[in-house]
Amino acid sequence: MPIAFIGIGSNLGNRIENCIKGIEGISTFAKILSLSSFYETEPVDREDQPDFINCMAKIETSLPPFELLTSLKSLENSVGRKQLDRRGPRVIDLDIISYDDLIIETEALTVPHPRAHMRRFVLQPLFEIAPGFIHPLLKRTVLELLKELKCTKRVLRVDNSSTFYSHKLTT
Ligand code: AMP
Repeated sequence: MPIAFIGIGSNLGNRIENCIKGIEGISTFAKILSLSSFYETEPVDREDQPDFINCMAKIETSLPPFELLTSLKSLENSVGRKQLDRRGPRVIDLDIISYDDLIIETEALTVPHPRAHMRRFVLQPLFEIAPGFIHPLLKRTVLELLKELKCTKRVLRVDNSSTFYSHKLTT
């Protein structure tokens, strides 16, 4: 079955609780294989907004990529995301970082996520749960990408998400 990595983030309200709602929602349509710790991260692009909590989930899913995207977007809505400013504060953000080794470049969906390799808040949790990950397009390991990274934004591990979620994790 296909394997995907999903980036999860929140910088509004109870950020960890919102991420957990996202994780629980994902588990209704995909099997969560592993989950990174939570990280507190400085915002990129628009800096005048609160810090994010980010984590990364490795999932197994029978949903094809566009159906997975639709499920994630509707989950964002049900957790309470309002479509105000894509770069501004948000209750929940769910991104497909990769989907097997597929390369998709359409208006609605780009996989691997086009900015994943430039963001420490993506690479750090990805490295934690998949140190052998190879970027399907750039053909570089997550460690190489981390070493080459120019992004100096703060990314601090705040807690182990499995403490919150261990009862649902399948190994
Ligand atoms: P965001 O505000 O970051 O959640 O972006 C949402 C928009 O980005 C949606 O309209 C998606 O169609 C589009 N998008 C393109 N590629 C991806 C991806 N890999 N994961 C999630 N959303 C994507």
